[in-house]
Amino acid sequence: MSNEINSSNFIRNIVIEDLEQGKHKEIITRFPPEPNGYLHIGHAKSILLNFGLAEEFKGKTHLRFDDTNPVKEDTEYVESIKEDVKWLGGNWNELFFASNYFDEMYTRAILLIKKGKAYVCDLTVEEAKEYRGTLTKPGTESPYRNRTVSENLDLFERMKNGEFADGEKVLRAKIDMASANINMRDPIIYRISHSTHHNTGDKWCIYPMYDFAHPLEDAIEHITHSICTLEFEDHRPLYDWVVSECEMEASPRQIEFARLNITNTVMSKRKLKQLVDEKVVDGWDDPRMPTICGLRRKGCTPEALRNFCTAIGVAKSNSTVDSQMLDYFVREDLQLKAPLAMAVLNPLKLVITNYPENETEMLEIENNSKDETQGTRLVQFSREIYIEREDFMEIPAKKYFRLFPGNEVRLKGAYFVKCNEIIKDENGIVKEIHCTYDPETKSGSGFTGRKVKATIHWVDVKTCVSAEFRLYEPLILDDDNDENEGNFLEHINPNSMEVLQGFIEPTAFKDAKPQDKFQMVRNGFFAVDTKYTTKDKLVFNRIVPLKSSFKLS
Ligand code: ATP
Ligand code: MG
Repeated sequence: MSNEINSSNFIRNIVIEDLEQGKHKEIITRFPPEPNGYLHIGHAKSILLNFGLAEEFKGKTHLRFDDTNPVKEDTEYVESIKEDVKWLGGNWNELFFASNYFDEMYTRAILLIKKGKAYVCDLTVEEAKEYRGTLTKPGTESPYRNRTVSENLDLFERMKNGEFADGEKVLRAKIDMASANINMRDPIIYRISHSTHHNTGDKWCIYPMYDFAHPLEDAIEHITHSICTLEFEDHRPLYDWVVSECEMEASPRQIEFARLNITNTVMSKRKLKQLVDEKVVDGWDDPRMPTICGLRRKGCTPEALRNFCTAIGVAKSNSTVDSQMLDYFVREDLQLKAPLAMAVLNPLKLVITNYPENETEMLEIENNSKDETQGTRLVQFSREIYIEREDFMEIPAKKYFRLFPGNEVRLKGAYFVKCNEIIKDENGIVKEIHCTYDPETKSGSGFTGRKVKATIHWVDVKTCVSAEFRLYEPLILDDDNDENEGNFLEHINPNSMEVLQGFIEPTAFKDAKPQDKFQMVRNGFFAVDTKYTTKDKLVFNRIVPLKSSFKLS
């Protein structure tokens, strides 16, 4: 994985120090997604950080599915996550499922009971909440806290054997109900859930809680640095308690960093799933989604994502990144990679009345204005072409230099044309414009007779290919990001997608395949859509417009 996220950050410094002090011979990191949704760009940051560190320090990274909650998890998500991690360049050394450790976790829970460090509790959810106390008020000990070891062993086994209903009993760690840290007030470590698990089927009806399972998973795999997001900082004492009291051989170190937040989007899987389920978008891979598969389908490259993550860096305090910053890195990456093509998204027919009816000619046009080595292509030109509707105004606005009656412009790579006549339909809408061209003004001929103030692009009516163009705007209108409460669906941008039927020059498209990317003159970077493109119909997604006022500070 090139250009790691780790140019310099506090986590990298910790790793360097640990290696220098001989704490570890080799580092092992992990990326531990819960398979309850598709990965999003926030996960990309974590993937690049974990895989990047292991790569830089010649260590290992495990891809581990944190599948300890049977209700929300699914193998569809497992497959998509593997695909997305690979696409980002993450080559895991080992692939694990937390559910394969259920036996070991159960054994460790029994160890805790035997040591008098865990007990079965019968408080209801409401009672437990009452007993827990608040930030300012210490908790109260459960009346079940002093059950004997043998009673606890018996009850826990009967929980496992399915003798109790969901919620009837839980296993709790016996730590400190008066702790200032609420996470340490006898947290639940096992709960009853009579549901089928995607991996273990109906073998278990008790499942470990995240705060108990996660440190054990890390320790079982001998993870050296367990990197997670800031909201787990207050859970670290519990993480360390579990590793130590369960007498694990390895003691991984949890390190927290700030999660990635981006303006005009939502990132929590719960909200993304809601967008999919309520059909606000067209699936997890809708190009407006901040999911990795959505970004991929839209045409974003892994290189752009990597450069973006490098630029935002790894910090210890939360902040929100401007969504235009990713666009900036997409543009940077595609500038030299995506060949140029002319497409007209909103067509208006232009007839060159003095161009001979049956004649055609081939014009040589550059493939990439920023890179001569990409050569030129031949584009057919003839009497009838399409131009963008916005490149013509019947009554020109101030400072409008494109076509209007009596004005002359250059057709890109072709000739000067002058507008003489407008043809309207029965509703008064301009249907066609009639122009004359000046053969002396051919591009590349060295003509210096007079100048025009604008160059517009075009496609040849006879040879162009019809295509659909999908243009996107942010999905969420204002900064209603994950932090805000309330219904985020009320902030959906009603104009987040615009679909246009236009035309494209044929040259570049003879062999275009889904995911191929092009730089459409003046219109932006586009990728061939993977879902709706068929043999007979080309569909393009706009990845980003060509220009933006966004500046990288
Ligand atoms: P979400 O809250 O979006 O549903 P999650 O944290 O529940 O995400 P997991 O599958 O549990 O998702 O996360 C896998 C890993 O990705 C974790 O280590 C988590 O810290 C990290 N991660 C999740 N979201 C972000 C983010 N926005 N920025 C950085 N890392 C993230
Ligand atoms: Mg989670």
